[in-house]
Amino acid sequence: MTTQDTKNAGKIGAKKITRREIIRTGAVAGAAAAAGGLAGAGSAAAQTPGLTWDREADVVVIGTGASGFPAALVAREAGHSVIMVETQPHVGGHACVSGGHLPLGGGTSLQRAAGIDDTPDKVFADLTDWSVVQSNGFPDYRYNDREVIRAFADHSAPTFEFLMSHGVKFTKTAPDGEAGSSYGNSGPRQMHIAIMDYPLVKNGRPLPPGEGATYASGNGLIQPLYASAREQGVEILLEHRMTAIHRETPRSGAVTGIEVTHNGATMNIKARKAVFVGTGGSTGNVNFRRMFDPRLTEEYCGLAGMPYSDQDASGELASMAIGASLWGFYNQTGEFGSALDRGEHIGCQYGYGNLKWEPGAVVFDKARATGLFVNDWQNVILVNMLGQRFYDETAERFTANRYNQIKDYTPYNWRNAKDITYNPPNFINAAMAGIGDGHNGGGPIWAIFDQDAVEREGWDPTPPNVDIAEGFFYQADTIADLARAIRIKYQRVTMPPENLEATVARYNSFVDAGLDADFDKPRPLYKIERGPFYCAWGTPVLHDTRTGLRINGKCQVVDMNGEIIPGLYCGGESAGGLSLHGLARATCQGFIAGTNAAQEPTRA
Ligand SMILES: Cc1cc2nc3c(=O)[nH]c(=O)nc-3n(C[C@H](O)[C@H](O)[C@H](O)COP(=O)(O)OP(=O)(O)OC[C@H]3O[C@@H](n4cnc5c(N)ncnc54)[C@H](O)[C@@H]3O)c2cc1C
Repeated sequence: MTTQDTKNAGKIGAKKITRREIIRTGAVAGAAAAAGGLAGAGSAAAQTPGLTWDREADVVVIGTGASGFPAALVAREAGHSVIMVETQPHVGGHACVSGGHLPLGGGTSLQRAAGIDDTPDKVFADLTDWSVVQSNGFPDYRYNDREVIRAFADHSAPTFEFLMSHGVKFTKTAPDGEAGSSYGNSGPRQMHIAIMDYPLVKNGRPLPPGEGATYASGNGLIQPLYASAREQGVEILLEHRMTAIHRETPRSGAVTGIEVTHNGATMNIKARKAVFVGTGGSTGNVNFRRMFDPRLTEEYCGLAGMPYSDQDASGELASMAIGASLWGFYNQTGEFGSALDRGEHIGCQYGYGNLKWEPGAVVFDKARATGLFVNDWQNVILVNMLGQRFYDETAERFTANRYNQIKDYTPYNWRNAKDITYNPPNFINAAMAGIGDGHNGGGPIWAIFDQDAVEREGWDPTPPNVDIAEGFFYQADTIADLARAIRIKYQRVTMPPENLEATVARYNSFVDAGLDADFDKPRPLYKIERGPFYCAWGTPVLHDTRTGLRINGKCQVVDMNGEIIPGLYCGGESAGGLSLHGLARATCQGFIAGTNAAQEPTRA
């Protein structure tokens, strides 16, 4: 595929898209004619006065990620035409850059072959178990929506078989309990998607021959599904951004289609049966995410998975504009899992630990730097905007439940929580505490270190490893000059040089004493004393969205009165009610939604 094709594909709106351009767009995705074709300009009646349909299909899928592809394929394989729209010039969303760890259970063929006794009822019990609690008192599953979990439990194994039958391969033949979060305590369910010969999105390169079968990555999910979709004649419109969802009237009747923009022009795509919202969540939208946590101001600009794709809440906002409700807010604010995480690659904007952008990635011009991976947090101190330490740098992130975390586990049993030792992993909360100036966000967090640390870690603190141009990394000969050098819009106040000097001097005295009198860092090991000195962005990163649109067990979107919005479906990170990290939730809900969307009546 070339982006040029899709850039040219929809010169639309004021300048109408031509049939030849449509066919070229279809050629990008496989077979436009099979997918739905062109509704002659103004030929299909639309309810909103003046609204005309430029395109139409039975099912319109918004987003080409983990939820979008299963939804599109299931509907297409049931015999219906499907158009997918994708705002980016590439398919895959966060699924493409993900680690590929996929906890689908409930009795998959591979679980059975490995002698693992798992059932939908066990999945349901696990993911609704009120008694599973983390060491900070936060429960993983208590606030999940029972109808949504029942549907997930019942469709987990069928979704897994669906993925296998569409060419998705796994690194192992049996599931284990590694990676991921909050997928149940009672049985191994985690499978790892093999990248095979597909390129890694983080650097654009495949692994050496033979290595891809044992290396997990989400592109091993997306590429086979994308190939199947093209083969089946699903039409995929890249760089087509959904900007509104049409309904018969703004607050009543069935959903009729969507509005998209492409190259500055607007077009309307009619959905004869259903629209599926698979837009991947809301964590990248500052005002939206602050509804759930006011602290999440703009400095948290290092969303995991960006800049490959954003989570801008466009699906949620367009659905809410026609009456949709949100659901399950606790799942977003509960302090467990990876929704809020520490940046492990420092000195760059996108520092999520499991995704190191490298030259060769299609978005490296936007990512700009790989960052320096911190192997040992003894090598740096972390300071706030005022140059003050705030916590033990080696502290752990939030924890989450997984297979076998609780020994002698019995579902819904009070004993599961009885022996938990209270030990809150509060690093993130301290980092977001702010500087007492009345602002909600904690401001930038900076890693401060010296040349000795660089040598111990084996870092090369020069571009493209660090982002000097955009102000995410600084170097100076003195500590005071380092503080003076910081210039980035998120740094609301100048860091007082004397503060940073005092902080470093005090920390060095802790190293001499063998004791961190302020934060109990386990035996501080290294002084910061040999220049040059360095200052690297180490601000917490945002990850999952776990609150989204209210859906029912069929993945139909529900409004503020508890009524179904006919013809509107949602799954993945844009859907609420299921607190489970990532791919399993998204693929399964796409599968469920596609199945039900295909059964919708065809509307005129
Ligand atoms: C670095 C990283 C590692 C991860 N590792 C794992 C893992 O190992 N295991 C796991 O289970 N999960 C993992 N995840 C999470 C997982 O990738 C996501 O939860 C999953 O992809 C969500 O699926 P989705 O369909 O909701 O969104 P996505 O897969 O992100 O797809 C959404 C798509 O919608 C598009 N879109 C958004 N708005 C619009 C619009 N208005 N118009 C048109 N298109 C739009 C986006 O560009 C995107 O392509 C990881 C995520 C990241 C970022």
